[in-house]
Formats: sequence, structure tokens, C-alpha cells
Amino acid sequence: MTLTTLPAVDGGPLNDARTQLREAATLLGYDDGLITMLATPRREVTVSIPLRRDDGAVELLIGHRVQHNFSRGPAKGGLRYSPDVTLDEVRALAMWMTWKCALLDVPYGGAKGGVRIDPRNYSRAELERVTRRYTSEISPLIGPERDIPAPDIGTDEDTMAWLMDTYSVQQGHTVLGVTTGKPLSLGGSLGRATATSRGVVHVALAALRSAGIEPAGATAAVQGFGKVGSHAARFLTDAGVRVVAVSDQYGAIGCPTGLDIHALADHVAATGSVVDLPGSDPIPDLLGLDVDLLVPAAVEGVIHAGNAASVRARVIVEGANGPTTPEADVILQAAGQIVVPDILANAGGVIVSYFEWVQANQAYWWSADEVEARLADRMTAAWERVHGHATRLEVPLRTAATCLAVERVAQAHLQRGLYP
Ligand code: NAD
Repeated sequence: MTLTTLPAVDGGPLNDARTQLREAATLLGYDDGLITMLATPRREVTVSIPLRRDDGAVELLIGHRVQHNFSRGPAKGGLRYSPDVTLDEVRALAMWMTWKCALLDVPYGGAKGGVRIDPRNYSRAELERVTRRYTSEISPLIGPERDIPAPDIGTDEDTMAWLMDTYSVQQGHTVLGVTTGKPLSLGGSLGRATATSRGVVHVALAALRSAGIEPAGATAAVQGFGKVGSHAARFLTDAGVRVVAVSDQYGAIGCPTGLDIHALADHVAATGSVVDLPGSDPIPDLLGLDVDLLVPAAVEGVIHAGNAASVRARVIVEGANGPTTPEADVILQAAGQIVVPDILANAGGVIVSYFEWVQANQAYWWSADEVEARLADRMTAAWERVHGHATRLEVPLRTAATCLAVERVAQAHLQRGLYP
């Protein structure tokens, strides 16, 4: 079965996302027309962002917003600032958001945004100007009932505050629900900053147990020490898992008896990197470590056909979006390794984003305990549903999760019918 009416893509995350969709849709028995509809973004925009640098020079940046699907509700997805952003990457990330929201039954479609910029090379004032101009350019397309951005790689709660403020000024009144991942003082939700990592750890512990590994005393390696990886390492440690290695874009470090995650967080705050933590050693190949659990929490495509055979972790839990290519999935599956897919594993972020949106729309905020209990319930239920479906169908967790999600989206699409 082919996606005949779509322009071909040459590898990369969009190819991976389409391959995963095609496999699930084929199992579901969908025809080519429906698959093509499910694969195709509903709307996408590319914008120019002229930036006046602090020294007066003017630079032109490029940004994208892709709204993949609205069948189940407004589009939802992060905003990424990275020099590697491409339109195809944003398309793939938007598609994965559609499946994630459907799988977790939050009433959203999927979207994603990106600006091609390396935020480390820009001042906060410059990043604020970039965010405001980008927001202004995409503002006709976003809003609490249209599309709700959130933080992703290279963006944070300040970015969301600037986005919310710019949109609100244009509307003439404060619109808290236009974005999630905002500061608490601007209608953010308690528990949002750590929600993705908490969700990762909920399913990681369940997956370890399903593999017959008791989490207390199990070993783990975490790739990426940003918003997702750093808190995931901390929550794993709290659960008794020994985090023996972590990495960031500058390098990887390890300690066989387990890293002191609090000392590591202080070291990163002081130096900007995990590298050279006192008492740790450099690690040449974090992905190839002999650990019980591997959490890739950085970027797409890091586990691929060329290195999957060297990955030795028994359980891989995808904190990042798209870290494992379909070719690598086949290799890991054949070796009996368990891969908990991104659309399940890192869904804690969008679940609490949904809670934040609900709270903002009602102007009534919940306690941290309430947020965390509801998050735990949703993650546990989703894990059990996906695990049960995979067992019944005798397919990998990713296939089961994608089938469940795609079916929900397709049902909504078919029930709405075609207009006109
Ligand atoms: P971040 O910018 O806060 O952190 C990214 C981390 O990855 C940094 O430590 C960076 O140094 C590191 N990194 C980048 N390239 C690397 C490489 N090649 N090897 C090792 N480390 C590398 O971003 P984040 O918000 O933590 O997002 C990480 C991943 O999680 C992304 O795939 C993102 O889409 C996904 N995700 C994030 C959220 C969220 O709520 N922030 C929710 C769901 C999924």
C-alpha cells in the first residue's frame, strides 16, 4: 500500500511517521484514500521572522506551524527552537501529536511549530522578539479553540508567556488558554513542568515490571538532560532505579554505582552541561550500555539501523519524540527488547497541558496532588490498554498504540463526514 498522492520524502522523521502510520492503517484494513487523508497535514504555514539583533544587525529566520489534524478537537503541539528544524520534521512531530492525543483520549488534534534558530546564540531579549514576531505571524491560526502551542526543545515557560501576551494584545483581552506550559503566575498548571517526565517514569516502571525486572536496583541510562531527561532521571532515582549514565549534546558521563542526580542538576545549572561532573567518567557510547532501562530523551532518529544491534537495554522508553526509526524497531523487536513508544511514553506533557487548558478555561486551578493523581491514572490506564492490545494482537507496543490512536482519529473523521 502506498501513499500515492503524497510527495515522497527521503528518510528522516516524516518518513518514519508515515511508515508507522502505514503499518497500523494496513492492520486496520484502511484503504489508500483514508490513509492518505490521515497522513496529510490539514494546514501548514511557513513564516519569515525578521529579527533585529541586540547589535542592530537584522537577520531573517524561518518558522513553521503545521496543524496535522482537527478531527477530535483543536490542534495541540509544542514549539521547537533548534537549528535543525525543517518543515518535514515539524510535519512528522505534528502527526505524532495527533496520535498521542487520540491515544490518551485528550480532545485535541495534533500540531507542531518550529523556528530554525540555535537559542544558545541569542540573548533573552532577542528570543523574546523572535517569539513575538513568530506569534504575530501565526496568530490567525492559533487560539484556545484552534491550536494551542506548548514548550518543546529550546523553548520554555518564558517563551509561552511571551506567546500568550502577544496573542492577547492582538485580541484585546487576556487569553490564557492560547498556550500551555505557562508560568504559574500566568495560569500555568501545577505539575506541568515535570509532567512529561513523571509520565515517562510511570510507564518505565510498569514496563520494567512487565519484563520481570524489579525497578528498585535496576539500572538506567538517560540520553538528553533537558526538561524531560533531567526530571526523568530524578524520578527514576526516587523510585530506586540506579541511573548510571546521562548525556546531553556536549557529551555523556557515567558512574557505575549511580549518579547523584541532585549534584548533577546543580552542576548543569552552574556549567550548562552534564560533562565533567566530579566523580563521573566520560562514556563513549551511552546507547550501547548494558542497562535494564534506556530513556532516549533528546532528539529523533538516534536509534537507527546502524546502531540498534548494539543497544543492549532490555527496556527502551521513548522520552523523546521519534528516537527510534522503523528499521531499528524491527531489530530491537527481533532481539526481544521492549520499546515503549513516544506517543504513550511521553504523553504526560500533553495530558497536563490539557489539564492546564481546562483550568484556564474555567479559571479554577487544581492542587498539585490532584494534577499528579489524575496524570498517574491516565498514564496507567493507557499503559494497560496498549500493553493488553499488543499482547492480544501479538504485535509490538508501538504498533498496538498507533492502531488504537489511528482508529480513534479515523472514527471521528468518518463520523463527521465530508463537507460540503
Ligand atoms: P530540551 O531542549 O529541554 O532538552 C533537550 C536535551 O537533549 C538537552 O539536554 C540537549 O543538550 C540534549 N541533546 C540534544 N541533542 C542531543 C544528542 N544528540 N545527544 C544527547 N543529548 C542531546 O528539550 P525537552 O523539552 O527535554 O525535549 C526532549 C525531547 O522530548 C524532544 O524529542 C521533545 O519533542 C520531547 N518531548 C518533550 C516534551 C516536553 O514537555 N518538554 C513533551 C513530550 C515530548
